[in-house]
Amino acid sequence: MNQADTFRHRGMRKKLVELIKSRGIIDAEVLRAIEVVPRHLFAFESAFIERAYEDNAFPIGEGQTISQPYTVAYQTQLLEVRKGDRILEVGTGSGYQSCILAEMNSRIFTIERMKSLYEKAKTTISWLGYSQVKCFYGDGYEGLPTFAPFDKIIVTAAAPYVPEKLILQLKVGGMLIIPVGSGELQVMKRFIKFSAHELKEEVYDYFKFVPLLHGKRN
Ligand code: SAH
Repeated sequence: MNQADTFRHRGMRKKLVELIKSRGIIDAEVLRAIEVVPRHLFAFESAFIERAYEDNAFPIGEGQTISQPYTVAYQTQLLEVRKGDRILEVGTGSGYQSCILAEMNSRIFTIERMKSLYEKAKTTISWLGYSQVKCFYGDGYEGLPTFAPFDKIIVTAAAPYVPEKLILQLKVGGMLIIPVGSGELQVMKRFIKFSAHELKEEVYDYFKFVPLLHGKRN
């Protein structure tokens, strides 16, 4: 990693924050995190380093994408991050979302099923110094039973259904944010775990994610 974060990049992030605000994101901590985390350092292809502060998704290799900044902000705002929260993220991808959450003073456990992405993200995250993010190579449908329960769970790939194991690994009072659907678009849902057996489901907007797939890949 030999990229620098410059005055120019910081200027582009300020503009990105204004854009995201104009689209309805109001959580000041989310906006601050977007302003601080250098998204261009999560781009591996030079063509996208230059375009990192447009409000678009872009490819990160292996047919996967870093989510659009607005989508990252939207999911993060729904997560209502509190200092010290233990958060499970399914779908590390580039590691950008993990760093946004870490910037908000939570502890992140993030899983990726593709080995090369897991390795790249781990390098980026540690280079940026976010030591409160722990990366795992595995299948997010299984969650991380060893580190459960979690205050919050965020899934950043399109789930055909809500994985039961993730609900089980959520604390009572905790919440799960997950895009659900197997078609072209998925609907963002938030589940709040009221008691061991009671879930409240809230339905939000439509988004387009890469699919949540079963099993690990080398
Ligand atoms: N949060 C990411 C965006 C990731 S795109 C970021 O900030 O860059 C979704 C990621 O989920 C992809 O990298 C994909 O490989 C991963 N993924 C898909 N199914 C998975 C599963 N079952 N377990 C873990 N990761 C999975």
